[in-house]
Amino acid sequence: MKIQRNGATPSRQGPTATFTGAVRIDSPFQAEAPGRVSGGIVTFEPGARTHWHTHPLGQILIVTQGVGWTQCEGGPKAEIRAGDVIWCPCQRRHWHGATPTTSMTHVAIAEALDGKFVDWMEPVTDEQYLADPVQKD
Ligand code: MN
Repeated sequence: MKIQRNGATPSRQGPTATFTGAVRIDSPFQAEAPGRVSGGIVTFEPGARTHWHTHPLGQILIVTQGVGWTQCEGGPKAEIRAGDVIWCPCQRRHWHGATPTTSMTHVAIAEALDGKFVDWMEPVTDEQYLADPVQKD
């Protein structure tokens, strides 16, 4: 058994190439082969969000703190809260992040296909981020 201790990996900023706003990534984790699951704890300050992206084998998000938003392209923008578990379907364009006024932290877990667990695309514009009404349940 291996224990990855809290603090073993420095916190890092979410890169501007794939995130908008202030994003922090803590405790990135990676299964040993032949396992292929990996992820991390991602914290979005108010207004921060991912760029549009897809996951070849989907993704599970577990919200651990705060209130956020997530949206699949063409679908409703959903409010997500601490304790919620979200499945992002395979190959569907989507984004996730904070609300404009509240930070949100989630654990993100995805399996890699041919070594790749995400395909990053263009930023979610302010217009897109704020456009649709939020669906609360
Ligand atoms: Mn995702």
